Amino acid sequence: MANTIFGRILAGEIPCKKVFEDELCLAFHDVAPVAPVHILVIPKREIPSLGHVEATDDAVLGHLLHRAAEIGKEHAPGGFRVVINSGADGGQTVDHLHLHVLGGRAMHWPPG
Ligand code: AMP
Repeated sequence: MANTIFGRILAGEIPCKKVFEDELCLAFHDVAPVAPVHILVIPKREIPSLGHVEATDDAVLGHLLHRAAEIGKEHAPGGFRVVINSGADGGQTVDHLHLHVLGGRAMHWPPG
């Protein structure tokens, strides 16, 4: 039994609107988008957060970032933002590492 909702998506127990999948990651539309383009990229391995990564995760981290860039370029050609929330104060609500790919509108700075 998966530990998180994303683990359950990976296990096929709950559906998602898939954008991309390969042996290391899955990308799907966020269920509560905060921008016209809001896609999540998650590793298939259950890494709880960016705060939990180790040296052995370097390859998968590079892969996730590269996939996020390709997805951003395809879905938000005007530009995009990649966000990783980590831990409670970082705004993380699902304890399975994920990259938010946001686009389709101008982003503001600083973020809230
Ligand atoms: P975070 O707050 O950074 O942990 O982001 C978690 C994200 O997961 C939020 O943007 C949620 O809207 C999204 N989310 C939660 N459940 C689902 C789901 N079943 N399918 C797609 N996105 C989800």
